Amino acid sequence: MRRPIMTSAAFLSQPSAPATKNDARVAQDLLDTLTAHANECVGMAANMIGISKQVIVFDDNGTARAMFNPRITAQSEPYETREGCLSLVGERGTTRYRRITVSFDDPAFRRRTENFEGWTAQIIQHEIDHCNGIVI
Ligand SMILES: [Zn+2]
Repeated sequence: MRRPIMTSAAFLSQPSAPATKNDARVAQDLLDTLTAHANECVGMAANMIGISKQVIVFDDNGTARAMFNPRITAQSEPYETREGCLSLVGERGTTRYRRITVSFDDPAFRRRTENFEGWTAQIIQHEIDHCNGIVI
């Protein structure tokens, strides 16, 4: 179900709690909300729809994917960039990494590790920041 976008800086600055198997519905709501904003948004974290759980969705080269409890375990090739956010007005500068390794629970709650690079890696870094209460 599409959910309204949370814009409260106080709420968004709180770290999210670990997700469990019971949060599959959160991922579906995030995917539905991302689809509804596909013209302006390439990824979302659960706190952006008011749910303080470690769940993210992102566009992976044309396919929308969900991750639970994502952690970056390696990163390389830093660069400076500017990003916008559906929960914020305007753009802000930040440092990202071209290559990252992410450990996460997949939708079946199997722990996986996967490498990402470029634009997809940048989206994931932005959404993991949301899970940690960091807003660009
Ligand atoms: Zn954002």
